[in-house]
Amino acid sequence: AAKSAGRSCYRVYEPAWSHEIQTRQRRVETLQQALQHGFVGFHVEYQPLYMLGTGEVAGLEALLRWHHPELGAIPPTEFISLAESRGWIDQVSEGLIDTILADLSTTTVAPAMGIRLAVNLSALEFTDDRLRSRLMRLKERLDPMGWELEIEITESQLMNLSPIVLEYLSALRAQGIRIAIDDFGTGYSSLAYLHRLPVDTLKIDRSFVFDMHEDRNGTIVTAILAMAHALGLEVVGEGIEHSEQRRRLAEQGCDYGQGFGLARPDRWSDRLFRPIDATQYPDSKFRSH
Ligand code: C2E
Ligand code: MG
Ligand code: MG
Ligand code: MG
Repeated sequence: AAKSAGRSCYRVYEPAWSHEIQTRQRRVETLQQALQHGFVGFHVEYQPLYMLGTGEVAGLEALLRWHHPELGAIPPTEFISLAESRGWIDQVSEGLIDTILADLSTTTVAPAMGIRLAVNLSALEFTDDRLRSRLMRLKERLDPMGWELEIEITESQLMNLSPIVLEYLSALRAQGIRIAIDDFGTGYSSLAYLHRLPVDTLKIDRSFVFDMHEDRNGTIVTAILAMAHALGLEVVGEGIEHSEQRRRLAEQGCDYGQGFGLARPDRWSDRLFRPIDATQYPDSKFRSH
């Protein structure tokens, strides 16, 4: 019997804890099966990025979705970290790129020039020669459409890169693939370091956009924009949910915007390419807070 407070605490938490382990185990097994059986249950959604000045579509970010018949929709943050911890991330990216290629081949969309297609990748993969050739295949598919390929890496992953990985990224960039730092502002990278990285775009994390109307975060966004532009980088504001955020970002010279208030991620279709009204769009119904 549990006599000490410590042990009774332990017993109280035990059922929940083991339930969590079971859930995780179940997900690991189903993920493995999904990957072994041709990426079943996965699809890609695309969230447009807009030119804040004009409201035109400037790019699409590919976001992976996994829907399991019994487990339901499993968020990408979860299955990506499972795949990373199991050493399966290369299979995930392989499926991702193949799905994008398949989506591109079914499209009747008149290829708008200058669209940038962004894919999220994990720093763990940047030693993989097969990934390199898959990315080049995707790029070769996009080139004749006048589209560009960009890969997104989170700031926290970029900060701990080995020289080998940096070399890999620089080589991709030399081949014409753009590189974006995702979730910028959360990783505390130093200016001196940022200057040396092979990057083209900086995506301001949505936590800064969220309350940029408050002076303190407004100042941070201003500083990030000034720094990024001085370094010759393009800037995307993430997580725009209402018009005030969009207006302020545009006012401060932020190049691109992305967020539920502009467009939610959606399946591949012509709809993705519609411009938004540069000055107005429904406001309150997009608020998630
Ligand atoms: P991320 O790359 O920063 O992607 C943006 C995330 O923010 C997406 O969530 C998107 O749906 C969400 N988002 C966009 N606009 C708003 C907004 O206005 N408000 C709020 N609250 N959220 C917004 P999602 O799709 O759940 O993806 C989460 C993260 O999972 C991504 O963050 C990315 O790091 C990772 N991820 C997604 N797809 C892939 C993939 O194919 N490969 C890898 N390696 N990672 C992926
Ligand atoms: Mg991203
Ligand atoms: Mg992001
Ligand atoms: Mg993010």
